[in-house]
Amino acid sequence: MLHILRHPLADHALTHLRDHTTKPATFRTLANQLGLMLALEATRDLPTRGHAVNTPLEPHTGQILDRGLVVVPILRAGLGMVQPYLDLFPDVSVGYVGLERDHATAIARSYYCKLPPLAGKRVLCVDPMLATGGSAVTALDLLREAGAEDLRLVVVVAAPEGVATVHQKHPTVPVFTAALDRELNAKKYILPGLGDFGDRLFGT
Ligand code: URA
Repeated sequence: MLHILRHPLADHALTHLRDHTTKPATFRTLANQLGLMLALEATRDLPTRGHAVNTPLEPHTGQILDRGLVVVPILRAGLGMVQPYLDLFPDVSVGYVGLERDHATAIARSYYCKLPPLAGKRVLCVDPMLATGGSAVTALDLLREAGAEDLRLVVVVAAPEGVATVHQKHPTVPVFTAALDRELNAKKYILPGLGDFGDRLFGT
């Protein structure tokens, strides 16, 4: 259920994304490039149906998309992965899940949730850093409760701990990532990782 992006351009973009000297404008461009490659992987098996057109020369029956797409970023870092879906998929809908960590329980809880209809759609939950997996599991729980059946998680960097947690709580949800990193440090940052994705994306 773990799909790791294999493409020299993805490795190139990720290495520059990890570089601490990369400035926010370049960071956003690289995140967008990686997000686009991941979007293609996570939609590779979207169903299609026959569609008849006339070329300038003759009639032709080709294939067009036969399933709606919903992309749901987890606020705020997930916003950096949305644009490729808007660029690629004409009829995509965007939902939002805002999560914050409860200081007492360390459990992620939702402070904002705005979702379009999910039934019958391919639902892609996007969040760049899969660290402990706590936020991802909470978001996937919300999406399941809201009717998502064909559900996937798309991240840029995953830690083994986060992948294990997601697979344990949501064993049928495929996870797409550009890299599977080594481990979490004591502060739950991914190593080697790239630091705080949201801070680097938004220059905070
Ligand atoms: N979130 C981040 O932005 N970076 C990490 O390394 C872990 C979680």
